Amino acid sequence: LFMRIVIVGGVAAGMSAASRARRLNPDVQVTVFERGADISYGACGLPYVIGGDVPSFERLIARTPGRMREQGIDVRLRHEVTGVDAAARTVTVRDRDAGRSFTEPYDRLLIATGVSAVRPDWARRDLQGVHVVRDLPDGQAIEASLQGARRACIIGGGYIGLEMAEALRSRGLEVTLLEKGPEVAGRMLDRDFQQRVRAELERHGVEVRCGTTVEALTGKDGRVTGVQTDGGLVPADVVIVAVGVKPNTALARAAGVSLGKTGAIAVNERQETDVAGVYAAGDNTESTHRVTGQKVHIPLGLTANRMGRVAGVNMAGGDARFPGVVGTGIFKTFDLGAARTGVTQAEADGLGLEAVSVDVDSTDHAGYYPDAAPIHVRLTAERGSGRLLGAQLIGQPDSVKRVDVVAALLHKCGSVQDLFETDLAYAPPFSSVWDVLLVAADRLG
Ligand code: FAD
Repeated sequence: LFMRIVIVGGVAAGMSAASRARRLNPDVQVTVFERGADISYGACGLPYVIGGDVPSFERLIARTPGRMREQGIDVRLRHEVTGVDAAARTVTVRDRDAGRSFTEPYDRLLIATGVSAVRPDWARRDLQGVHVVRDLPDGQAIEASLQGARRACIIGGGYIGLEMAEALRSRGLEVTLLEKGPEVAGRMLDRDFQQRVRAELERHGVEVRCGTTVEALTGKDGRVTGVQTDGGLVPADVVIVAVGVKPNTALARAAGVSLGKTGAIAVNERQETDVAGVYAAGDNTESTHRVTGQKVHIPLGLTANRMGRVAGVNMAGGDARFPGVVGTGIFKTFDLGAARTGVTQAEADGLGLEAVSVDVDSTDHAGYYPDAAPIHVRLTAERGSGRLLGAQLIGQPDSVKRVDVVAALLHKCGSVQDLFETDLAYAPPFSSVWDVLLVAADRLG
């Protein structure tokens, strides 16, 4: 069965879909249009290149157009899709280098356009040294701005702001982090966990100002000089704006595709939109939270790759389903890792769930083995039934990856008793005999 598949967006979701479709069905013709100059890069790695842990931006590129072409995938860089005619099954494409537009037919269309960083009106584009962190050119522009810079101001205390604070501190800059809300990491952790993250930033010399609203940027000779806030002026040679993202849905809307309540594209489990032949996957698309049953928009890397893979299989004539998410996330701030899955106690309260939590402070491995470090766990479950609802962990970066144990159980609707009965790996360098998660389950059971 010959089929023309057109994919808009050539990063995580788009390239996963392209590879999968071709592997499943060598008879499909796959064309990927990417408006940028790169495909398949790991945006997640940008803070680590800027911080110096990863030697170059090139290292973040997972697949090249040449290798994709060898797999029979036609990748067109610097080609922007500007319109969709869903009735005629065609897209309008603008070749940015040639400066001309053309029409391309499709049988199946995947919209994998990702998100854009929010850039409020005050984040003036006319000043040098003001950046968002989204793609490789952003990373390269930040790198260029760092030459001779002494003071950085980061606006936004989400995980990208936190990662950038660490990166720029590692580069020897004075760093001030501004957050409008009452604490950093606001959307990820309960309040007392957020405070531990802020303490770690402060311990490493980042000045954190929460409850601060940005009013304007100041500049001189075309370069940024500071950030005017409701609490005074913060001088800065470089400003990083990390205040959130919004899904790129213009094309979907042009195609007549419905958005969900979250503002991202609504799809079914097969990643199909409500317009025949049009699929969506990745950061621009909402998913179902398996713990709360609600539609959510949690734009993350694994979710984007997995959605793309599912879309790729289905577009090529197979049958795959996206299983939903459980709200798992992890980040590092200097020597501290923080992880979460499911819902926090505060989120559970907000949703009206009957939730109860237990806290355990312990060490991440046997206390007598060298370098045992503190780990703090909060386990949350439904009162009465004992159904697991979520977990939060703070400790050394490696140690909090054990959040995955709880994530796996959440996928299977597991209980506190299920967690307690799980045969977890133990040897003194890795954990205590009764791992901190088992201790928490025992206390909550
Ligand atoms: P994108 O990667 O945004 O790709 C979409 C592509 O579509 C873009 O290249 C865009 O140019 C192209 N496009 C858009 N519109 C058009 C059009 N009309 N025509 C042609 N092309 C178009 N996730 C994690 O899970 N863990 C992390 O630690 C993590 N860290 C991150 C750190 C940073 C600094 C950033 C920016 C992101 C991080 N993420 C992380 C998120 C992760 O990078 C995304 O979830 C993932 O890249 C989403 O992939 P995507 O394919 O949906 O969208």
